[in-house]
Amino acid sequence: MAKITIDEKQYDVDNKLTIIQAALEQGIQIPHFCWHPKLSVAGNCRMCLVEVEKLPKLVIACSTQVTDGMVIKTKSDKVINAQEAVMEFLLINHPLDCPICDEAGECKLQDYAYRYSVGVSRFEFDKVRKPKRVELGPNVMLDTERCIMCSRCVRFCDEIAKKPQLTFTQRCDHVELTTFPGEKLDNSYAMNTIDICPVGALTSRDFRFKARVWEMSSTDSVCVGCSRGCNTKLWVRNNEVLRLTPRFNPDVNEYWMCDYGRLETFKHVNAGTRIKAPLIRKDGKLTEVGWDEAIAKVAFELKAFKKHEIAAVGSAHATNEDNYLLAKLMSHLGVTRIDFMRHVVEGDEDDILLRADKTPNNTGAVEVGIGTQDNSGGFHSIINDIRQGTIRALYVIDDNVAADPSVAEALSKLDFLIVHASNEDATTNLADVILASSTYAEKHGTMTNFQGRVQRIRPAVATSEQDRSLDGFAMSRLDKFGAHNDRWAKGTRRDARPSWRILTGVAGALGARWKYASAEDVFTEISSTIDSFKGMSYLRIGSRGMMVARHTETVGKRA
Ligand code: SF4
Ligand code: SF4
Repeated sequence: MAKITIDEKQYDVDNKLTIIQAALEQGIQIPHFCWHPKLSVAGNCRMCLVEVEKLPKLVIACSTQVTDGMVIKTKSDKVINAQEAVMEFLLINHPLDCPICDEAGECKLQDYAYRYSVGVSRFEFDKVRKPKRVELGPNVMLDTERCIMCSRCVRFCDEIAKKPQLTFTQRCDHVELTTFPGEKLDNSYAMNTIDICPVGALTSRDFRFKARVWEMSSTDSVCVGCSRGCNTKLWVRNNEVLRLTPRFNPDVNEYWMCDYGRLETFKHVNAGTRIKAPLIRKDGKLTEVGWDEAIAKVAFELKAFKKHEIAAVGSAHATNEDNYLLAKLMSHLGVTRIDFMRHVVEGDEDDILLRADKTPNNTGAVEVGIGTQDNSGGFHSIINDIRQGTIRALYVIDDNVAADPSVAEALSKLDFLIVHASNEDATTNLADVILASSTYAEKHGTMTNFQGRVQRIRPAVATSEQDRSLDGFAMSRLDKFGAHNDRWAKGTRRDARPSWRILTGVAGALGARWKYASAEDVFTEISSTIDSFKGMSYLRIGSRGMMVARHTETVGKRA
């Protein structure tokens, strides 16, 4: 340990830390552009200059290790002069186009210009012009004039993505960021460079010019693209998800997410294929009906079959709460055939984040009692028995199982198919009743990632159900953080419900008296009945998740 003084206050800190790390641990911000906690130290922006007693010159806090007795000043006149000089240099050739820059509102350079610069320019000459609107790769655009050459993006590609694709060319004020000859910025993690770029030099081709950051609300969530469950923020304007960004979680994804998860896991929320209300097949045609009629139809049909003629397929895309109640409903009916479909793409993973299991909640589905860890034939034996005609009615939640043509062919032989779905797909095409379910962006719930970490999702987009104030917490949240979104977006709401709530309705129509008013109520029951969830609550799971107890030994075991 080292005893150091920062701005006249004493601290005991680990003597392996640099000044910037030690200060940050004590909640003291030292301004910086090029330093990033997960990248090597470049020390090129000079913004983190601090004064250290007995040293003749200012030192950069990012690469100077603390020593016992060190006395550091971060706000002395010398430091303030240096910060102002650095800002003046950085802004000399900067285009100052904040009004049309996507980064405005979340830009370090803009923030620091207010906080650490004199606010006027003494530069009277023409600025150096550089290429604008450069397509660095399929997902990232570069405005070279905005780049401050911090090299964060270069180091990210070298050190985290392990794809050296970016470099600098030219010298002095003509230095330009570019890709290596014949290369593109085209790796699975390329868009993280946009997040860590401290200015608006790198922008997302998908999100550019769609919204200003202050027009959106952001909600903590979890990516549903694979079993890693990267922590994310969902950014919403007018009830529409416009972008995903990674959220720091040292136990899951650090600061990063992959481009696939960022681009491909939210567009279905506002797609034209959304199922807007419950549907019943009448005279061969799917017809919109009210919830009461749809639920009564499901209950009536389920009563018409013998229990061994019914099976259920849960989902590794659904929440623990949804799958748990599906298992409970089947148990109420005396149905024992229940499993879910695995979506593992062998070999499609890496040693950074991406997992071969392309679902967010395989582990949780097993933990709450749907299927087995080793997938010992449950799902396929259900499909076989449908082909044989021994299973005649099937209840599927939140999974497009018929995307597999052999499964679709089997499903077409059913006498009755009930499907919970948010979007039209191959499975809804075959359904007799479709119960419009909420997407992960519209509901509360938990999912368990491959590590056994239970993580929360939260509603970022409102459905008509929330209009009717059935989910008071979600509404109050939307009112608080996105009131303008809420008012303008009435027409965009679907009459969708989370699967746990639909199942509660069906159970009620079948004579069960469940009293779940929220997903949290369901989770409270899960945590009191399934060993591996013992001691958990939404509050305790918080924003970083909680590991299931003795994860592998207790799979599916009820207390
Ligand atoms: S593009 Fe952004 S992250 Fe890359 S060097 Fe320039 S300022 Fe830094
Ligand atoms: S690694 Fe998986 S969970 Fe993470 S962002 Fe990519 S798809 Fe989503």
